[in-house]
Amino acid sequence: DFRSADSRVAVGGPDGAVLGGDGFVVIAGPCAVESQDQMTGVVDAVVAAGAAMLRGGAFKPRTSPYSFQGLGVAGLALLAEQRSRTGLPVVTEVVTPQDVERVAEESDMLQIGTRNMQNFALLREAGASGRPVLLKRGMAATIEEWLLAAEYLMHMGNGGVVLCERGIRSFDRSTRFTLDLSAVAEAKRRTHLPVVVDPSHSTGRPHLVGPMSLAAAACGADGLLIDVHTDARAALCDGAQALSGAQFADVMTRLRPVVEAVGRTL
Ligand code: PEP
Repeated sequence: DFRSADSRVAVGGPDGAVLGGDGFVVIAGPCAVESQDQMTGVVDAVVAAGAAMLRGGAFKPRTSPYSFQGLGVAGLALLAEQRSRTGLPVVTEVVTPQDVERVAEESDMLQIGTRNMQNFALLREAGASGRPVLLKRGMAATIEEWLLAAEYLMHMGNGGVVLCERGIRSFDRSTRFTLDLSAVAEAKRRTHLPVVVDPSHSTGRPHLVGPMSLAAAACGADGLLIDVHTDARAALCDGAQALSGAQFADVMTRLRPVVEAVGRTL
């Protein structure tokens, strides 16, 4: 019975965040790391509102080769600067096996994105990195395939796996993807792994981020991954789904009673 021994995944050392325990961990930051000023503005806003971890992509897996691909190594340095400034752990995406070592050195947690969920060479390398891994569900992956991708990480000796439901493809274009909250409850039933929800990439709509965050907490998720930008219209990546600092603070306020109602702390 996997459920009798839920994993707790510690990120960022003794003062860091723990996913899978009694806490509910909100990870927030911009979709892409763009500049020092942008990072400082966004990070100040999310820290003031109570985020426990920071996010930001330095290597961006874009659908179009003509879109902003991220600042790469320079972006990792900007993210690491925010980690030192705030003391909060950071998660960032890695897109190639060759970059795993570098990303692992400069961050606290590796993110495997939806487009790479079944990149087995990348999973093996990330699994061997010694860093916890946030594994996003492939946008067309079954729950079984998602859990088997997690097995690739654990097979390499990595016990620090956190699943992230981020929406799957459906016929409906009203939202960017279709957030499958039943996958959260199902993954929690079938595994011992913590599960977080990304209400930003799944819905693609800022006005849906709040309601889906509350629903995620209510259905047993262990945390959230939320896009925030202080100037969303100028964002170089996915600005359309980002919350402003004030909108994020409002979501945090509305989230607290739901988190407490399920016996957790924010
Ligand atoms: C992200 O979180 O930055 C991201 C690109 O998400 P996804 O892989 O879910 O599209």
